[in-house]
Amino acid sequence: MVMSASWTAEFRRELGALYQDLDAEIAQAGPVCQASGRCCRFQEYGHTLFLSQAEADLLLEPGMPAGSVVSEAGCPYQIGGKCTARERRPIGCRIYYCDPNFQDQQQPITERFIARLKRMHEQIGRDWRYRPLIDFLREAPPPPALSSDSAGLVVLNELS
Ligand code: SF4
Repeated sequence: MVMSASWTAEFRRELGALYQDLDAEIAQAGPVCQASGRCCRFQEYGHTLFLSQAEADLLLEPGMPAGSVVSEAGCPYQIGGKCTARERRPIGCRIYYCDPNFQDQQQPITERFIARLKRMHEQIGRDWRYRPLIDFLREAPPPPALSSDSAGLVVLNELS
């Protein structure tokens, strides 16, 4: 993917730092993840993943996985029930937990980190474009077709 001129190394570092701070705060709150994969199967569980332009740039940087499908149903990076983009996943993915004991904390943490991310966009003049993931997926280069080698890998992933 071709990055805009505003996608600077410094901005990438800042975004990485924001994700680290968010992960640390969530770890402190200690929500339980039952690895159900529900957070990534949007249509089935009735939610929408929103993210900003810069988050989408980072998430989609290596392209979509071979053979993945662009659909409102789910995320192409979920393979075999697991996230294959953990280091690049946006705020919405980091903060979404099914744990009922975490629900009250989710909203205020989200608001603080979204406000920080929005300020970062403003500082570099980057469009905010806070949209559902499907919009960014449709704009991105389509996923490459599966080769016979990668088809085997997907089967292995699904079995793991
Ligand atoms: S980036 Fe990862 S955590 Fe986020 S929706 Fe996709 S597979 Fe799930």
